[in-house]
Amino acid sequence: MFDRASVVTPGGVNSPVRAFRAVGGTPRFMVSGTGPYLTDADGREYVDLVCSWGPMILGHSHPEVIAAVQEAVSRGTSFGTPGEGEVALAEEIVARIEPVEQVRLVSSGTEATMSAIRLARGFTGRAKVVKFAGCYHGHVDALLAAAGSGVATFGLPDTPGVTGATAGDTVVLPYNDLDAVRAAFAAHPGEIACVITEASPGNMGVVPPTDGFNAGLKELCAANGALYISDEVMTGFRTSKAGWYGVDGVRPDLMTFGKVMGGGFPAAAFGGRRDVMAHLAPAGPVYQAGTLSGNPVATAAGLAQLRLLDDAAYARIDAVSAELRSLVGGALTKEGVAHTVSAASNMFSVFFTDEPVRDYDDAKKQDVFRFTAFFHAMLEQGVYLPPSAFESWFVSTAHDERAVERIAAALPAAARAAAEATV
Ligand code: PLP
Repeated sequence: MFDRASVVTPGGVNSPVRAFRAVGGTPRFMVSGTGPYLTDADGREYVDLVCSWGPMILGHSHPEVIAAVQEAVSRGTSFGTPGEGEVALAEEIVARIEPVEQVRLVSSGTEATMSAIRLARGFTGRAKVVKFAGCYHGHVDALLAAAGSGVATFGLPDTPGVTGATAGDTVVLPYNDLDAVRAAFAAHPGEIACVITEASPGNMGVVPPTDGFNAGLKELCAANGALYISDEVMTGFRTSKAGWYGVDGVRPDLMTFGKVMGGGFPAAAFGGRRDVMAHLAPAGPVYQAGTLSGNPVATAAGLAQLRLLDDAAYARIDAVSAELRSLVGGALTKEGVAHTVSAASNMFSVFFTDEPVRDYDDAKKQDVFRFTAFFHAMLEQGVYLPPSAFESWFVSTAHDERAVERIAAALPAAARAAAEATV
């Protein structure tokens, strides 16, 4: 299948990290998913610790989500008009996340962040955007500038195809460094439209904000007339009922969502202060649109999923996450492998270093070759981890004792493989 795919699709995949380039080997083609398990085209079953990169927080094929989708689909798949499902989903988001007074639905996290920064620029009349190295906000041109050190500082594009002009208004700073943010505001007075940050980053591995970092960002933005945008595409409706906002309580001006809120379908959103959102077309002059925005099937899936995510569901996910973190840490310690299990609520990842990881530079110092060996040993034993050392692991309410036992049984050999790995 991968050979077939490679003929008609660049690199054989429709999103790069699926291709296993970071770990080597052939990506698995999955044909079905049930609860915490995925089954590949060769009939092998895996315990899934990727959960579609976050969305499948109730596990795969949850009966109530599937039923909601089937009911919606039986009435048609897209109308290109307003519909009740999108209103209900927006109401659910607004009810859960207090700083979100109004919300606009889109189809991907990329669209959400792209639209949020356009709105911030339109609202403030300013051009520059501050982002942090190691934070991923989708493949928005202006937000791909995240290369290391000097390149990052000058906002040079990180990928061919993004012009210097596009990236030139992006200021990339080290994560968890409020002094750098202060200095940026001082260097560009009256020019910075917004600071965008992952609410708690999961795209350089899991690197939570240090105490007071998000609050400091909010304060600096407010003092300098810029908007504070919290990207909760990954953390939203995952790290608590109200996402990371529910954990740290820092009130953003704008927020972005995706993944969990789509229930496995393409649905995402951005929202926030009513006075800011009022600048969005057709209420205001900042244009934004989408043929499939608020799609009835996607909103039915998202709404069904969110309604099932009550306190008990989060308690379950948190408990499974804690158990896995302890099992992974124990297995690596037993084999003498230097590591740090880093967690933000129920999101976690393992850095193969025992040095503290506070930013992207720290994350890059880990022994990636040990992760590679660990990953393949887990895969061979039927555990599907994210195929990169710089990604969060995700669990779901469906990860029951049987699934945890299968992971536990695979860990000793994987830890040994990590210990024995050479560069
Ligand atoms: N923002 C964050 C924090 C993400 O993790 C992602 C995707 O992983 C995105 C934005 C982009 O979302 P999408 O892949 O739906 O475009």
